[in-house]
Amino acid sequence: MEAAATAETRARRPARSAKPDVAIGSIVARVFNFSSGPAILPEEVLRQAQAELLDWGGRGYSVVESSHRFEPFVALVEEMEVLVRELLAVPSNYQILFMQGGGHQQFAMVPLNLLRARTQADYVVGGHWSNRAAQEASRFCSVRVAADTLKNGATRAPVQSELSLDPQSAYVYYCPNETIHGIEYDYVPATGDVPLVADASSQFLSRTIDVSRFGIVFACAQKNFGPSGLTVAVIRDDLIGHCSPRWPSMLDYKSYSETRSLYNTPATFAVYIAHRVLRWLKDQGGVPAIETRNIEKATLVYDAIDRSDGFYVNRVARAQRSRMNVPFSLRDDRLTAPFLAEAEQGGLAQLKGHRTVGGVRASMYNAMPVEGARRLAAFMQEFQRRHG
Ligand code: PMP
Repeated sequence: MEAAATAETRARRPARSAKPDVAIGSIVARVFNFSSGPAILPEEVLRQAQAELLDWGGRGYSVVESSHRFEPFVALVEEMEVLVRELLAVPSNYQILFMQGGGHQQFAMVPLNLLRARTQADYVVGGHWSNRAAQEASRFCSVRVAADTLKNGATRAPVQSELSLDPQSAYVYYCPNETIHGIEYDYVPATGDVPLVADASSQFLSRTIDVSRFGIVFACAQKNFGPSGLTVAVIRDDLIGHCSPRWPSMLDYKSYSETRSLYNTPATFAVYIAHRVLRWLKDQGGVPAIETRNIEKATLVYDAIDRSDGFYVNRVARAQRSRMNVPFSLRDDRLTAPFLAEAEQGGLAQLKGHRTVGGVRASMYNAMPVEGARRLAAFMQEFQRRHG
């Protein structure tokens, strides 16, 4: 109810040229923000956080000013674990750990914890982020590239039959949603008995998954469930406890497992916001409901591309088009800068494509209302009418 009212309020707002986030009395004029991350957060969560910055639950101080050992904060972390377990139907033989260090720290933690006595790992390279992870892993082990579609321009993910997997490898690694190239796998790689590791940073909680197919699913929070400074890993029990004592304890999953994610001081504000976002997600009807909404948003924008007679171009294989990140270019690249400027003027912010690929990218994570996608699609059509 609350979400619908918010979307409605936004829809009634005229296209504005005013600066975003300008406080007018108690009303803050917000725009639709398509940032790839850190990204849009639910408006309800931000309003609650704003109010609670002076008074968290009647205590007269905020969560940012509280000890991470204070019971209400510990309870909040415990509830986050319960919420993730419930939202993704995580089986009981998996642990849910919260850490810092973002996606990049996981690029190192995965080999340091999973290699065990082995010396090699398989990496499926389907875009920028799996490639970055493979580079980091090569500091610690021999990396076998099981397939590579990045070298051919990253317009699709490798298919199962292309994967050259070695049963001697310690694990198989891939990135189910490549944030920069806008490629989302339409299948989960079958890896036999070798644990599968997924960097779900830009996909986490946006769709239902069968967790039992994975050894580890990790994600940094700053796209789908919170601010930066927090990372989650859902890990099968038997994969914890194998990190060599040579490595820092901060890089050992066991440190977080033994302390219920309170090994040292976490980024308490990021934890607090993520907790609120997870509750919000549950209130929306959970992952199946948010997935339906995510499909609707993606369809609106891809339809605008496909019906443009080539004015807008997305080069990704249809079955693997990302729901979360929609990159596209304009046939006439000279129109890219005016497109971005006019979109910004119209309250559609942060649409610039990644610096390595250029063009436009619309990231539409869970917190993006359907109305945001509708407004973007309408703007694309209207821009084409004027410039096509
Ligand atoms: N993996 C993916 C899929 C990403 O999109 C990103 C960031 N955009 C990262 C990893 C890196 O995350 P971080 O900056 O938190 O290290």
